[in-house]
Amino acid sequence: MHQKLLLLACSAIICEHAFCWGFYAHKEINHHAVFLLPPAMMVFYKPHIDFLTEHAVDPDKRRYMVTAEGPRHYIDLNRYGVYPFNALPRAWYSAVEKYGEDTLMAHGIVPWWIHIMLQRLTKAFSEKNYPAILKLSTEIGHYIADAHVPLHAHSNYNGQQTGQQGIHGFWESRIPELLAKNEFDYFIGKAQYLANPQQFMWQRVLESAAAADTVLSAEKKLTQQFSPDLKYAFEERNGMVIRQYASGFTIAYNERLQGMVERRMRQSIFAVASFWYTAWSNAGQPELQPPANIGFSETDKKDFEALDRIWKTAEAMGRTCGN
Ligand SMILES: [Zn+2]
Repeated sequence: MHQKLLLLACSAIICEHAFCWGFYAHKEINHHAVFLLPPAMMVFYKPHIDFLTEHAVDPDKRRYMVTAEGPRHYIDLNRYGVYPFNALPRAWYSAVEKYGEDTLMAHGIVPWWIHIMLQRLTKAFSEKNYPAILKLSTEIGHYIADAHVPLHAHSNYNGQQTGQQGIHGFWESRIPELLAKNEFDYFIGKAQYLANPQQFMWQRVLESAAAADTVLSAEKKLTQQFSPDLKYAFEERNGMVIRQYASGFTIAYNERLQGMVERRMRQSIFAVASFWYTAWSNAGQPELQPPANIGFSETDKKDFEALDRIWKTAEAMGRTCGN
C-alpha cells in the first residue's frame, strides 16, 4: 500500500509539472471569459465554449513537442534589474538590440508573444477564418492567464532557489482546485476595448513580478508555523489520493495572500475577454456567422491528436512549471 501511495505521489508531481495555472484554472479562465463578450461575439464563442475550455491547455502540451514553446509562457523580469525594470525596453526590436535574442529567449517572452497572438487573431477575424479564430482565441487565453501568475514573472519560479520546491503548483493549481468552485466570485462585468493592449499586458506582468516576493515570503513564514506533517497530507486530487499541500495549510496560505489568487484569476478572465474583443474590434467588428461545424483541417486535427498523445509520454523541452 505504501509503495502504491508513493507511486501515486510521483505521478501527481509529474501531472503538476505539465500545466501552468494547472489544468483546472486555465479551463476555468477561458470558460468564464466567454460570458463577458457582447452578443455579436457570443453567437460564435458560446457554441464553442467546450473547445475553448478543453483546449485551454494546448500550449502547455506543446512544450513537449516544440523547444521554442517554453519561453512563450513566462518572463523572468528580475533578470533585468529592479522593479519596474526600466532597463528592459518594452519594444521587441529595441530589447533584442540591447540584450540579444538568446538572452530574451532564455528569460522568457510572454508579453511579446501575446502581442503576436493578438495580431494573428485580428487577422483571423478580418478573414473570417473560423477555425483560426477559435484556435487563436483559445491559445491567447492561455498565455494571457500565464502572464498573470507571479511566479511566471520571476526566475525563482518554483522556489528552487529558496528551498520551496512545489510552490509553483501550490499557488496556481492547489489553491484554485481547492477553493475556486465554492469561494471564488466570477461576476466580472464586460470585456473592454484596449486602446493599448501592449501597455496593458506589460502592466499585468509588472504586477505579477511585484507580487512574486509576497508569494514566496508568505509561504516561508507560514511554513515556520506548521509542522511538516500538517503542511503536507495525503488528500484526494482528481480521484486519486496523493501527498500534497494539506487543505489546512492551503487555506491558511490563501488567507495570508489576501485573495491574490482569486484576484489574478478574475483579472485573467477580464483580460482574456478584452483581448478577444479588441482583436474583433480592430478587425472592424465583422459579423460572425459560423457554420455549425467549424471544420478543422486535417493538419489541425493531426496537431490536436499529437499534442494530446505526446505530452503524456515525452520529456518537456525546456522549463515547465515545476522544474
Ligand atoms: Zn503555460
